[in-house]
Amino acid sequence: MLDIQNLSKSFGDLEVLRDVNIAVEQGEVVVVIGPSGSGKSTMLRCINLLEQPSGGKILYQDKDITQLGKAIMEYRKHVGMVFQKFNLFPLKTVVQNVMYAPVKLNKTDPKEAREEAMELLKKVGLESKAEVYPHALSGGQQQRVAIARALAMQPEMLLFDEPTSALDPELVGDVLAVMKQLAKEGMTMMVVTHEMGFAREVADRVIFMDGGYVVEADTPQEIFSNPKNERTRTFLSRVL
Ligand code: ADP
Ligand code: MG
Repeated sequence: MLDIQNLSKSFGDLEVLRDVNIAVEQGEVVVVIGPSGSGKSTMLRCINLLEQPSGGKILYQDKDITQLGKAIMEYRKHVGMVFQKFNLFPLKTVVQNVMYAPVKLNKTDPKEAREEAMELLKKVGLESKAEVYPHALSGGQQQRVAIARALAMQPEMLLFDEPTSALDPELVGDVLAVMKQLAKEGMTMMVVTHEMGFAREVADRVIFMDGGYVVEADTPQEIFSNPKNERTRTFLSRVL
């Protein structure tokens, strides 16, 4: 579905991604771990074309997304992204946040978009909050709205960049539960996270990045029980 080939990215003299190769199959959950500054966010931003790669290819359904031209907007509908900072529209209610993109970008009938938004809010456990404004919600609730908002575009794949890192610890579980449910339903996901329990339980594959390289990529069992690379071992000994 997604095939990253020899991806590199530099900011001036700073090489942030070096020869990254990752293939993600449909329905697969790939969790990306690694120390701060290792290039995880930059990689997701390249996949979503928020950054232009310096080299290599990113194929989505066999098309190089760096060559899409005007089709970028269409591509972004298929590949949604959820950020650490949820960035909900503060002056729109929860349900308005979720229905905004379908109405604006897909010209969905507002009544229909609202009904679909309510279904999605039910899915993330926030049906009762539909008419309130984001500031009245906890961080965890806001992030679940952000996930519902991403789902409203009916994406084929979702990218998550540390979706629980800005949350108080007691709010993390509800967000992870929603993500786990999506995984179970077959959503293709690439998740950058420090939640090793989630990686262990939900990932089909775990990728350890360091210094802009993919150092190791394997099943969670292998990565956590039998890491082959010294740097993976050192990182895990610090976080586990
Ligand atoms: P991670 O998400 O793994 O913490 P990032 O992808 O955010 O890592 O950052 C990797 C490196 O790239 C860091 O050294 C960071 O300072 C640098 N970097 C990220 N974005 C930019 C940018 N827009 N301009 C310059 N340097 C950047
Ligand atoms: Mg990051």
